[in-house]
Amino acid sequence: MEGNTQRKFKRICVFCGSNAGNREVFSDAALELGNELVNKRLDLVYGGGSFGLMGLIAQRVYDGGCHVLGVIPTALMPLEISGETVGEVKTVSNMHERKAEMARQADAFIALPGGYGTMEELLEMITWSQLGIHNKPVGLLNVDGYYNSLLALFDNGVREGFIKPAAQHIVISAPNVKELLEKMEQYIPTHKHVAPHNSWQMEQLAGYSKP
Ligand code: AMP
Repeated sequence: MEGNTQRKFKRICVFCGSNAGNREVFSDAALELGNELVNKRLDLVYGGGSFGLMGLIAQRVYDGGCHVLGVIPTALMPLEISGETVGEVKTVSNMHERKAEMARQADAFIALPGGYGTMEELLEMITWSQLGIHNKPVGLLNVDGYYNSLLALFDNGVREGFIKPAAQHIVISAPNVKELLEKMEQYIPTHKHVAPHNSWQMEQLAGYSKP
């Protein structure tokens, strides 16, 4: 498993709260994911900054000797907005560029608990997979059931005919880090892309596992 993970993923992009949440279980999960990335010698791509869960995981991965790349729009650069950046920093001009750059740099995505920003980033990577822009695994760390209601909403989307059952498998969720990485490792896309990958003119976003 460890060898496979190392072969398939080299850089994981983590989306997570710029706040730490009200309960320790969320910080613990961010640190656990950071530890696991270090154990597996996986690098981190994240939104830059030192606040909340973002800062916790970045510092942990950086301290563990793995590469950390923060991608941050110039508007969020002031220290009072995002705090000190950790590791390598890439500045971009806007949020669209940031997301494209994060997606380009990583070969898998994981969302930890977070707010609107995290949910938007997660949903965009799910959507890009559905469209055929990338084939990279998209993981959801459902810490203490934080995302139960979002997963229930996705189920409802399938039931009501707005999400194709095959596309539901794009979202890989698990309650703990080990299980999540294992599932992501085994991920094989089964959904039919809305448009062919090469029609998106975003070649650099190709996934590691072409169907
Ligand atoms: P949220 O979940 O609303 O706290 O937003 C977190 C996500 O949005 C992160 O993954 C970042 O990419 C981005 N984000 C939100 N606030 C900040 C911030 N102050 N500094 C850097 N990135 C942020």
